[in-house]
This record gives sequence, structure tokens and C-alpha cells, in this order.
Amino acid sequence: MPTIHYNYAIKHLNSFGIDVNAKLFTEVRTEEELKTLFSSAVVKENQLLVLGGGSNMLFTKDYEGLIIKVSIKGIDVKDDEHHVYVTAGAGEVWHDFVKYCVAKQYCGLENLTLIPGTVGASPVQNIGAYGVEIKDVFESCVAFDTQTNQLVTFSNKDCEFAYRDSLFKSKAKGRFIITHVTFKLAKTPTLKIHYGVIKEELAAEGILAPSIRDVSDVVAKIRVNKLPEPKTIGNAGSFFKNPVVSQSVFNKLKEKFDDIANYPLADGSVKLAAGWLIEKCGFKGVVDGNTGTWKNQALVLVNYGEATGLEVYNFSEKVINTVQNTFGVTLEREVNIF
Ligand code: FAD
Ligand code: NAP
Repeated sequence: MPTIHYNYAIKHLNSFGIDVNAKLFTEVRTEEELKTLFSSAVVKENQLLVLGGGSNMLFTKDYEGLIIKVSIKGIDVKDDEHHVYVTAGAGEVWHDFVKYCVAKQYCGLENLTLIPGTVGASPVQNIGAYGVEIKDVFESCVAFDTQTNQLVTFSNKDCEFAYRDSLFKSKAKGRFIITHVTFKLAKTPTLKIHYGVIKEELAAEGILAPSIRDVSDVVAKIRVNKLPEPKTIGNAGSFFKNPVVSQSVFNKLKEKFDDIANYPLADGSVKLAAGWLIEKCGFKGVVDGNTGTWKNQALVLVNYGEATGLEVYNFSEKVINTVQNTFGVTLEREVNIF
């Protein structure tokens, strides 16, 4: 049975660096430990929250239940003629896992370099960056069903992946604890370098025929220059999702805001850049008490010091209301609020 800690400080376990406690806290390192934990009373008597790296969470108060940190490790590789099937434990650190795959020349994860968090959380919001989403390389995952206490395997289709969303973040939120994820990666590189800044940075560095490592290095460079490092400035990455609007709504916005950043989607709708909307409302790099937005990307809300989660949350309300009043567009939080 994994050790249960009482009134456990989790400031170092959330990338916003919010100083809160969990009433109960435990860490599981194997599927067997999970099963044992779920046969105990502590699970039945408390509300539960699964924690990976805490990089997509905002705690607005102490957590009055049991936090289960998933620290299942290990990497296993199988292959066929064209692909490698790499299975990683949910507790593997995402960026270390990407580095491992890049070093082995397994192609598919390089655009997702330097995303904080764990492998187990990667399917939850179908992590994505620079034109690639996890669904593009996700083969399957194994998860512990907290309702039946059984391990279940999910295929790509089962996960109902959508833009920064999946079954695990929507209708089955909180039900499954992902223990292992398998990625289908290519032996022959088919790089995705169409995304603007990647193309520009490769060109600036004079790289005409990039390797998997080149793409990973370029992404790392872009991110380090643009995004705040959570260990120095607490944050959880993009605080809001990019809103998607219909073509007719977009046309009206375009009449009023000629330079509005937009990306047409295959179904005819239009993705707006939430960061652009927030910046246009005058929020880029603002400091509001202990919180505010990042100087290089207004979409990232930050903890400038000793912010409470409630302060950050209230500031996010202010941003939502201002964007709504200015553009008539409703921003939805991407970060999980507890
Ligand atoms: P946590 O924050 O611990 O948890 C997130 C959610 O997943 C919670 O609901 C939690 O209950 C659930 N969860 C966690 N582990 C499991 C598990 N094993 N089984 C079931 N549920 C689980 N995201 C992107 O998509 N793209 C980016 O480019 C990106 N860049 C970022 C940059 C910065 C600087 C930061 C701070 C964040 C960024 N993020 C990005 C957000 C974040 O890194 C990802 O969402 C990441 O996948 C979260 O992983 P985590 O382990 O920290 O999850
Ligand atoms: P950016 O390059 O400044 O672009 C702003 C927005 O425009 C992005 O959100 C992106 O949407 C969209 N965009 C830009 N070029 C695009 C293209 N060629 N095709 C489609 N959409 C395009 O964004 P950024 O803030 O520096 O982030 C870079 C990448 O890392 C983005 O993909 C972003 O999602 C990801 N990121 C995510 C988080 C997070 O916490 N979720 C944090 C940091 C960075 P998309 O977001 O849909 O790509």
C-alpha cells in the first residue's frame, strides 16, 4: 500500500507554484500499487484528483481530498518494418521521453519538445504544438478504471481526441487513471515543418534538410525564448483555448478588426488566436497584483510572486470579460481549475 501523507504541501508539485495543501496525498509507482490503493477505505471516503506534473492546473484553494500522483516509470519498444511502438509509463517526464525518442531517431514527437508534464497526461488534453497533436502518433493507452477497478485499453478512436480535448478531459473526466501510453513513431522521418516559426527558424539557421534532432532543437530554442520557465515564473502555459468561430461570425469580426489573427479550419470554421485577442485588449505583459500576463505571450497567465490561485482565477475572469466585451468572443479556460 503506498504511503498516505496528511496535509501535504503541493507548491512544488504545480507549475503555477501556488502554495496550497492536499488533505491527503500519495504517490503510485506501479499498477499493482494503484489496485491496492483502490481496495482501501481512503479511496472510498475521499474525493480524488490524479496529478502528473501539475503543469496544467490552477489550485484556487487547498484540495480537500486525496491527490494521487502517478509516478509509473519505464519505456518499452517494439517495432515492425516501418514503425516503432514505444510504450512509456505515465510518470515518465514528457520532455525526457521526447529526448529519448529524438536520440533514437524515432520520428513524430519532435514538435512536442519541451512541453512540461508527464506522459500520462499527454492524451488528457491531446497536447499539441507547432502543428502536431498527440493524436497524430497515439496508438493506445492503458488506464485504470476507478469505477470497476480494472485496467482498460483505449485505442486512438476510443479517446475521442479533439482540439486540446479528449474523453479523459470531457465526459469521462476523473474516471480513468492512465498508466501507460503507446506511441506509433516512424522509422523514416516525415517531418512537419509547415508551422510559421519553425520554417522561419530553420531558414534563419540555414538548415535546408532538417533532421529529427534539428526540428526538436529549433522548437526548444523558440520555446525558451518565448515562454516563461515555470521554475522561475509560475505558469501553466496557455491559460485559454483558441476560440473557434463560424465563418459568418469571423466575417463580421474581420470587418471591424482587419488584422485579426485567424486560421481557417477544414470544416469551414475559423480558429482565432486567443493570445492576439487578449493582447489587443491591452493585456500583454501586464502586472495585476501578484499575477498578470507574460511579456512575450499574453495567453500565458503568470504568478509574479506569491499569487494565490484565486488571484490568478479572478484575473482570468477579468480577461474573459474584457475579450467578451471587445470582440463578443467567449474565451474558455484550457487550464484545469481546482
Ligand atoms: P497535470 O497538470 O498534472 O494534470 C492535467 C490533467 O490531467 C488533470 O486533469 C489531471 O487530473 C489529469 N491527469 C494527469 N495525469 C493523469 C493520468 N496519468 N491519468 C489520468 N489523468 C491524468 N500543453 C500543450 O498541449 N501544448 C503545449 O505546447 C504546452 N506548453 C506548455 C508550456 C508551459 C510553460 C506550461 C507550464 C504548460 C504547457 N502546456 C502545454 C500545458 C501542460 O504542459 C500539458 O497539458 C501537460 O500535458 C500537462 O501534464 P501534467 O503531467 O503536468 O498534467
Ligand atoms: P504562436 O506561434 O504565437 O501562434 C499563435 C496561435 O496561432 C497559436 O495558438 C496557434 O494555434 C496559431 N497558429 C500559428 N501558426 C499556425 C499555423 N501555421 N497553423 C495553425 N495555427 C497556427 O503560438 P505560441 O503561443 O508561440 O505557441 C506555439 C505553439 O505551442 C502553439 O501550437 C501552441 O498551441 C503551443 N503552446 C501551447 C501551450 C499550452 O499550454 N497549451 C503553451 C505554449 C505553447 P495552436 O495553438 O492551435 O497551434
